[in-house]
Amino acid sequence: MEPHIYREGALVGWIEVICGSMFSGKTEELIRRLKRAQIARQRVEIFKPAIDQRFSEAEVVSHDENAIPSTPVDTASQILLLAGDADVIGIDEAQFFDLDLVNVVQRLARDGKRVLLAGLDQDYQGRPFEPIPQLMAVAEYVTKLHAICVVCGAPANHSQRLVANDDRVLLGAKDAYEPRCRRHFSPTPVPTSAPIAKPARQATPAAPTPTVSDAIS
Ligand SMILES: [Zn+2]
Repeated sequence: MEPHIYREGALVGWIEVICGSMFSGKTEELIRRLKRAQIARQRVEIFKPAIDQRFSEAEVVSHDENAIPSTPVDTASQILLLAGDADVIGIDEAQFFDLDLVNVVQRLARDGKRVLLAGLDQDYQGRPFEPIPQLMAVAEYVTKLHAICVVCGAPANHSQRLVANDDRVLLGAKDAYEPRCRRHFSPTPVPTSAPIAKPARQATPAAPTPTVSDAIS
């Protein structure tokens, strides 16, 4: 669902949060909304944390290589200084900013700007990944996206870490994660699901059987 995209009257700003697990298409959705604003000749500024140097220093790059130019910033307060007279502010990888980002985007919205944020809502242990929960609370619109569980095909709400590492942030390691549903997610890193046999599809609809064994849960 796309929030209202037209500016009705003057100085009516709002906040949109696009959240979810890795591989859920958050950045693609952010880019889609921002490009539509650009097509409407709205002034768009895009920021991302300087910590996120996975692919490109000056572009928001989604995993499908759809790219849009952006400005790396070290702190949330720099966004206030650099926002200028933009109508629309996009912020990717918002989970890498501290809680000051909440105050920054509230101020931008009060100043009449449309603010869009994309970010992980949970860390690799399934814990809420601040400041995304706080941003969700103050946002006018929240879109939660899902990937698909690589084990069972259910909607995946979690990013399963596949390598033993206790750091909350593991940058530049897309291969170190895969999407998992609640049932197949483990807060402890586990090997890839590739060797796990999937249950055979049944011809007739049946309730999920809790007796199907797997190595994860
Ligand atoms: Zn699953």
